[in-house]
Amino acid sequence: MSMAFLEPPILGWKENPVEFDSVFNESMYTWSWGSPDILPMFAKGASGDHVFTHCYLAESEDFAAEDATKLDSWVFDHVKAFFRSAQSNQTLLRKLHQDKVVFFLHLLGLDTNGHAHRPGSREYKDNVKKVDEGVKEMVTLIEDFYGNDDKTAFIFTSDHGMTDWGSHGAGHPSETLTPLVAWGAGVHHARENLVLDPGSTEWNLENWRRLDVNQADVAPLMAALIGLSYPLNSVGVLPVEYINSSNLFKAESMLTNALQILQQFKVKMAQKKQTTLPFLFLPFSLLSESKQLDIVRKARSYIHGGNYKEAMELCRTLIDFALEGLAYYHTYDRFFLGTSLVVAFTGWILYVILIIMKTNPSIIRTSSSYTGVSSIVLQVMVLRFLVQLYCFV
Ligand SMILES: [Zn+2]
Repeated sequence: MSMAFLEPPILGWKENPVEFDSVFNESMYTWSWGSPDILPMFAKGASGDHVFTHCYLAESEDFAAEDATKLDSWVFDHVKAFFRSAQSNQTLLRKLHQDKVVFFLHLLGLDTNGHAHRPGSREYKDNVKKVDEGVKEMVTLIEDFYGNDDKTAFIFTSDHGMTDWGSHGAGHPSETLTPLVAWGAGVHHARENLVLDPGSTEWNLENWRRLDVNQADVAPLMAALIGLSYPLNSVGVLPVEYINSSNLFKAESMLTNALQILQQFKVKMAQKKQTTLPFLFLPFSLLSESKQLDIVRKARSYIHGGNYKEAMELCRTLIDFALEGLAYYHTYDRFFLGTSLVVAFTGWILYVILIIMKTNPSIIRTSSSYTGVSSIVLQVMVLRFLVQLYCFV
């Protein structure tokens, strides 16, 4: 923690300057396999000894550049060996039979092969096939291990897509839209989609694709499926459509989700209030304390009275307000900083002009059209600069 604050410039994306909670941290136990670039992030944020990581060496990522499928095979092989070893390890066996257990398989091969060989390449397609077979094997392995007790939920997703030339970052749907396939215990089976989605035609999924969600929503989905607390600083919204459970469970899960996000809003507001002069503090007007209480009370009484749909709608409203409020406080100082910068720069420019006039008094006395024009040009430039600066801030 202290290191993070001491050396912020070298943190990069692998280290979080702010400690964060995660589904893994909230789980009873998490076992994870994959890249040393990714897994330690979660283990580091975890409290206590309950998030276990199994990583290949960082160098393997380079060696695997020729065919990164090896990275995924490594994961599948190690998961198999892990479950095999559990048969003769009573301590591990006991842990594995607890509730709220997560297995995280990080498959970096596809990403690496996509970048190195393009998504149209033989290497990439072979890798997809390998992962496809691997996932099937893993599902059978886990179902067999737990005696087909139907208590395991599976979530398959990716963090980004790719263009045909193997890049991402430009914001095209092929880069930002990712699959989210969920099945197993507690997950609603596919239902025919009433809203025809032309984007899924090439996958033959136009009638089956469910509601799109944000990646952040996968965390509350996982938490709800296995009965964990929502991670403290998650801003994900539970996609209730995916849950196959009673309306009471869904409504209560939504209320918990709303309260958890509302809490973040309250903390953020308190922090802002503390660092702002009292008479300058402008609270987020759409979610006053009385409004929060009112919504929560109403949602609770709806649940009590069995009006689950209304309760869920109300919780969704509260979540939307709280997220908007969070964004408001996150950018709260932007106006003040922008104004200060513009005032500072204006003062500085005026000061420079004054100095120039003082050292060259002839400028003031000259009334030729040339000076007039150049002073107008200067004024326009200064004005443009200020406007741009303000827009930038
Ligand atoms: Zn990538």
